[in-house]
Amino acid sequence: MAVPKRKVSPSRRGMRRSHDALTVAAFQECPNCGELKRPHVLCGGCGHYNGREIVSVEG
Ligand SMILES: [Zn+2]
Repeated sequence: MAVPKRKVSPSRRGMRRSHDALTVAAFQECPNCGELKRPHVLCGGCGHYNGREIVSVEG
């Protein structure tokens, strides 16, 4: 079995993990109701997409 020759230093471990961070999902304001929604996705607040109502939301 292959075994590492020497211990990875805290510096090298940090350099490796510099690419591990997760990014927060993108959000845009809905132009119809102003609620935050994902780009290219139907608005969950008012059911609008691209300027017209796709799904009716009761209430
Ligand atoms: Zn909306």
